[in-house]
Amino acid sequence: MKFEIPPLPYSRDALAPHIGGETVEFHYEKHHKGYLERLRKLIEGKPEADASLEDLIRTEQGDVFDNAAQVWNHTFYWMSMTPAGGGDPSSDLLERLARSFGSIDAFRREFAEAANGEFGSGWAWLVRDGHGRLSVRKSSDAENPLQRGLQPLLTIDVWEHAYYLDYRNERARYVDAFVDHLINWDFVASNLESSPLAGGEADEGGSDR
Ligand code: FE
Repeated sequence: MKFEIPPLPYSRDALAPHIGGETVEFHYEKHHKGYLERLRKLIEGKPEADASLEDLIRTEQGDVFDNAAQVWNHTFYWMSMTPAGGGDPSSDLLERLARSFGSIDAFRREFAEAANGEFGSGWAWLVRDGHGRLSVRKSSDAENPLQRGLQPLLTIDVWEHAYYLDYRNERARYVDAFVDHLINWDFVASNLESSPLAGGEADEGGSDR
């Protein structure tokens, strides 16, 4: 079966104390791999099994979409973090974010507000549109910016399973730890180096709902 998830890019304890090893273990082994197993069962022997994950995200709905998107979203989430991350990005990226958001702190605030403001389970994203413009979006459940022609550059998982063992109900503390200590700026920069997606939304419309 072609769909796979890569190994974690660091050891399960590497994000501690910001995200503990037990959270990473359950999140990767049970949740992420669980989505993969369900996706495989849903599309086994069907034409969808030959599609790419991105195609499934763009074209499918219901259970196939949910599980395909959650496989993709979690792989992207693990890459979005690195031990000893956070802080300031390289000067080029810092300038780019400052141009788009006013300042790096304004970006941090906007990203944290999106992550804290998503009601229920979902994700917050830094994305690039087809014109090269950067913005912050949030999405519910498994939704992914690729559905709207936007290119994901960074994401945070704000489903409770991402933080409950470490922070209980205090999502904002998890979001602060992610922003201050875990963001993998090199990953953001490498995503920006790839070609922008063609097309994308015609209008700039605030939160992605
Ligand atoms: Fe998750």
